[in-house]
Amino acid sequence: MKRTDFLKAQQLKLTELQDTLVTAINSSLQEETVRQRKREQLIRVRIALTKISEEPSIYGFCEVCDEAISQKRLNTIPEATRCVHCQEDAERHARSRRTSTGAFERAAVDPEVLEVAVVNTEC
Ligand SMILES: [Zn+2]
Repeated sequence: MKRTDFLKAQQLKLTELQDTLVTAINSSLQEETVRQRKREQLIRVRIALTKISEEPSIYGFCEVCDEAISQKRLNTIPEATRCVHCQEDAERHARSRRTSTGAFERAAVDPEVLEVAVVNTEC
């Protein structure tokens, strides 16, 4: 797939995701913790959309190591800002921080962290 087509597809996906998130956040049926998680995800979705429209060359690259994030991961999590390796590192870090302080850290409820747990890690 050409990069421009890929970006267009991701943009469409992100726009739909943005609408879904906004609806969920505004719904009083959602729990506050769920809404908070969705608000954080919405921020990442908007950042991704901004990257695609303003600086498309940096979309899809890991913010930590600058490596390309796999297409498979971006298909599942179009707003991903880290490659699977850096995400796993962050996850490990969050886990050890949680056990060492005993506090429920923000990172522990980072939806990207939660999502990567269900995404196949071989990508
Ligand atoms: Zn990385």
